[in-house]
Parts: sequence; C-alpha cells; structure tokens
Amino acid sequence: MKILHTVPGKSSLLLATLFVAMLAGIGSSSSLAQSPFGRGKPAPPDQYVLIHAGTLLAVPGDDPRTQVTIVVKNDKVLEVTDGYQETVDGVDVANIQIVDLADRFVLPGLMDAHVHLSSQPSFSRSRAQRGTWQGTDPAKAALNAVEYSRVTLSAGFTTVRDVGSDDQSVFAVRNAINAGRMIGPRILASGSSLAVTGGHGDGSPIEDSGDPTARLVNGVCDGPYECRRAVRYQFKVGADLIKFTSTGGFGSNTELTRQLTSDEIHAIVSTAHMLGMKATTHAYTAEAIKEAVRAGVDSIEHGFLPDDETIKMMKKAGTYLVPTLSASLPPPIFNIKDSESERIRAKGQAFERAYAAGVNIAFGTDAGTFDHGTNAKEFDMMVRFGMTEMDALYAATISTATLFGIAEEVGTIEAGKLADIIAVDASPLDNISVMHNINFVLKSGRIAKINGKMTEPFNYK
Ligand SMILES: [Zn+2]
Repeated sequence: MKILHTVPGKSSLLLATLFVAMLAGIGSSSSLAQSPFGRGKPAPPDQYVLIHAGTLLAVPGDDPRTQVTIVVKNDKVLEVTDGYQETVDGVDVANIQIVDLADRFVLPGLMDAHVHLSSQPSFSRSRAQRGTWQGTDPAKAALNAVEYSRVTLSAGFTTVRDVGSDDQSVFAVRNAINAGRMIGPRILASGSSLAVTGGHGDGSPIEDSGDPTARLVNGVCDGPYECRRAVRYQFKVGADLIKFTSTGGFGSNTELTRQLTSDEIHAIVSTAHMLGMKATTHAYTAEAIKEAVRAGVDSIEHGFLPDDETIKMMKKAGTYLVPTLSASLPPPIFNIKDSESERIRAKGQAFERAYAAGVNIAFGTDAGTFDHGTNAKEFDMMVRFGMTEMDALYAATISTATLFGIAEEVGTIEAGKLADIIAVDASPLDNISVMHNINFVLKSGRIAKINGKMTEPFNYK
C-alpha cells in the first residue's frame, strides 16, 4: 500500500478504486490466464444492488425523478432505469440485492470539505489543557479517527477532507478504508496543518521550538525555504492536499489577523500545486484572503471578514469559500465567549455576500471542533442565511467534488461514477432539516447503513 501513501489527491483515489476493484475480482481474468499455475481460482461473480428509489435527485441542480431503479454493479453505478427493476439480464438472483427505498428521497453521498477526524471537543480539551493542540497521543487519535469516520459516514457523508489531524493516525485510517478493511468515508487528508512559529496551528511544544525535526513533524515553518520543505514533508508522509493557516483563529486565541508573509504563502501554494496537491488556507481577514487568492490557493476556510474586493477576486479566480458556518458556534473548549465568533461572522456576512456574488461555495463544517455526525446542521444554517435548499445540496455534492478534483468519479448518481448513495425520509427541497436523519448509506457500492442502522464496520472476509 506504499503507493497510496505517496500519490496524492485524485490519483490516490483512482488507485484506491482500482485496488478495491482488484479485490472484487474485476478485471482479474486476464492476469489469471497468464498465471504459470493454470487457471487459478475463478473470479468471484459481479455483485449487483438494485435500489428502488421513490424520488431520486441524481444530479443536484436538475429536477428529481420518481420511481426509478439505480443499478449498481460492484462499486459503480451501471445505469438508472425507469420503474422498479427486479432482475438483471443474465445475472443469477443470488448476486442481486434489492433495496426498497420506494418511500424515500434518494440523493448522492454528501461531502464535507472541513473536518478534523482525530479529535472531538472532549479530546481537544484534554490536549488544550496540556498546552498542545496537535496529536500528542497517536494511539488515541487513531481510535478516535476510526470511531468518528464511522459516525460521519452514518450521517451520510461519503467523502470528507481532513484539514488538520494527527497526521499518521488519519493517514492509517484513510488507507484502511481505501483498502476495504473497514467501512468509512473516503478521506482526503492534509496531515498536519502548516503554521508559522507561534501561529494558529503551531502545535509544537515550547521546548521543541528550535528542534528542526519537531517543527517539521508539527507542520511549523518560517520563510519560503522552510515552508517548501514543510509541504514536501507532508507530501512524503502521505498528504493528499496542503492546509495552512494564514491568520490566527478562535481555537488558539491568536487573534484573527494575518500571520504569514507573502513569500511564505506563495511558496506553500506553488509547491503544493507542483506536486499535484490542492492548497487550502484557514483565513479570516480580507488582507490574508487576498494574498492567498493572488497565490492561487484553491479554497478559503472560514473567510469570515472579506471586503468587497476580496469577494470580486475570489469570483474572478474561481476560489472556493468553505463557509464553516457551524464553526461560528464554538464549543466551550475555545476560550472565548460563544457570541464572539457569531458576532464576527454576522458582521462580515461572508457567506451571504459570496453567495450573492456567485463565488464558488463548497460545504464544510469544522466537525471536530463540535461533535462529529452533526455535520448536517451546516445545511440548516446555509438555508437560514439565504441559500436555496437545492443550492445547499449542490454545494455538498457537485461543488465540493469539483473543489476536491474528483467530480469525474463522485458527486452525482450517474453511469460510471462510484456508487455513493444516501436516502432520507422526505424531500430536503421542502425541508432541509430531514438531512439530520439519514436512513440509508451506500459507499462505493457497499451498504454501510440500512433502515437507519449501520452494518458491520469491518470486512471479515
Ligand atoms: Zn478546522
């Protein structure tokens, strides 16, 4: 699995898909024919899932269809047909599973562009009390990531972007999911978030501040040379993307103002892009956002305080806003008055203004600063702040898939795409709050949740 550690982003997803396909025996007949030991074991038969969907929103933005069958073959969508299909030509019924969602609303698996899978408020609090923010207890962080990825998948999120966790722990969990060893969301992971000395996300202990290895491992860099090296280090250990913190943040009480120089920002973004990785930055103030946009950053996390010029620049450059409205309601771990982040968010109205201006908006929550599995509250807030229900669903599927660079493979329910499919009890286009109760989850063709209950998390085969 070494190759999965070193190939980032889209390529690693494709490789992971190929790997799972190989496990499933797809395309293995030609390699068996070349075996010097004869024919070998026959390839296992293709597995089909026929999903009878009462209402299907296959492509958010288009009208839903009613009474259709989604034909899933192994890990992919084969086709969507009218009416409720019970058989597949030439396929033994033993290899067909029918899922009755005739009274449900079916849509593509959701995506969250901003989670922290190895922590949750209780865990973060204990780390904060020790005076460090980043993972000082990798074993606990790995177990957290196993549990929280399962909770996240149960909430209907089939792909997430982890933007700052205990890096080795989250990479290990990502790889186990990609290899089919356990069921969880597809994870794109940044590893350690990059920060400057004393900046937001500098998790290195005070006593290690001069230790180059500790700084590298914790993602701390100063100046363009160190920052290029920090990007290359995260790439080497397994990052799919690079996250860096351009300004202070609520979690570290480092104010919200800019912390990185222009040459540091440009070094990080250009090195990430050269290595085929996306770059995203945590940034609150207009000045910091603008410098990142000038450097070609792919997305802005939070972005609560843009000026009009910032919005124009993001629109022109195609930069995505990851609004994390949920993060404006922080848990008590953050040593600030709860109302302070809400007040700053409301003052900037970044989400409302970016939406009105037609800026690309992805779906991102900052889960991990609040409980995992409650990601859907972001939908409530998006709609409350003026987004249509359809656009909120578009943001959480097609838009976020495009930001991730994987829109060819996921984000809609169409022939040839990975079968990531969820169901809710009623139409979210009428009432977005139904997104809190996910009835069914299929990820890469495997049933993870049915009738509101999760299936076994591990693959014992
Ligand atoms: Zn965050």
